[in-house]
Amino acid sequence: MAIRIDGKALAARVKERAAAGGRTLRRAPGLAVILVGEDPASRVYVSGKERDCAECGFLSFEHELPAQTEERELLRLIGRLNADPAVDGILVQLPLPKHMDEKRVLDAIAPDKDVDAFHPVNVGRLVIGEPVFLPCTPAGVMEMLHAYDIPVRGKRCVVLGRSNIVGKPMAMLLLQADGTVTMCHSRTPDLAAITREADILVSAVGRAGLIGADMVKEGAVVIDVAMNRDAEGKLCGDVDLAAVEPKASYITPVPGGVGPMTRAMLMQNLLTAAKWHQAEE
Ligand code: NAP
Repeated sequence: MAIRIDGKALAARVKERAAAGGRTLRRAPGLAVILVGEDPASRVYVSGKERDCAECGFLSFEHELPAQTEERELLRLIGRLNADPAVDGILVQLPLPKHMDEKRVLDAIAPDKDVDAFHPVNVGRLVIGEPVFLPCTPAGVMEMLHAYDIPVRGKRCVVLGRSNIVGKPMAMLLLQADGTVTMCHSRTPDLAAITREADILVSAVGRAGLIGADMVKEGAVVIDVAMNRDAEGKLCGDVDLAAVEPKASYITPVPGGVGPMTRAMLMQNLLTAAKWHQAEE
């Protein structure tokens, strides 16, 4: 039976560490959170991030804009926040309304305040192995592997999903940890033949029940990044937990796995940004 990786407990430790780091600084790290429109899920995410800041003793500045806001107005706000010394990190909650160009908006955030690590400069730094900020979800997964003493070096790692925010950076971090990495996506034929070779399997697809026991090697480490709703509306991942748990060596539950780690790693990035800014002041 697999050991369940407790993302909630580990996230609490990461946040405590960030809070302790924050207390050594001259001023508390500050996060500006921009929410455009009234998407209820986005509102929940933003409130969660503000709560995390409060828990760590960090400041959060919320900017709520109506859905019909013009893109150039949002870009002007980002420009002001880029120049504001009280703001160490800027986070634009996605998705944005359809009339806005998401890429143009994210690219407007100063790379040294890009605590989500979505800006091309930070993506490039990650690829060449000189990251300043790590993208929160994959960084949370690496922190989990580290905390449970799960070695990556020399292991066969399979990542399902190739999005810019999860799959690609996940593969890059596993590669930098000396894993041998295979990436799979919707056009990958015979997925099960590849996943069955994985010592470490990371699934970031977004399809409930995609990973059954027949797709997992005995003793594999199974990390479920996805957040789906099952037929009863309950939160679940890609992995059929009940079927895979007896076969895996370690497994992350959903909820209580990668999700809390993503939020905690944001606090770590905010601390990194604040340290950087204060060293320059
Ligand atoms: P995304 O942009 O929709 O990417 C999904 C990826 O899965 C795509 O690369 C897609 O391939 C691939 N895919 C689709 N069907 C597949 C199949 N049958 N077999 C193999 N690959 C398949 O999603 P995302 O933003 O990366 O998020 C993925 C999941 O993680 C979602 O459930 C999301 O809610 C969750 N998530 C969780 C956290 C967290 O904190 N826990 C954070 C971010 C995201 P193509 O590229 O070919 O289309």
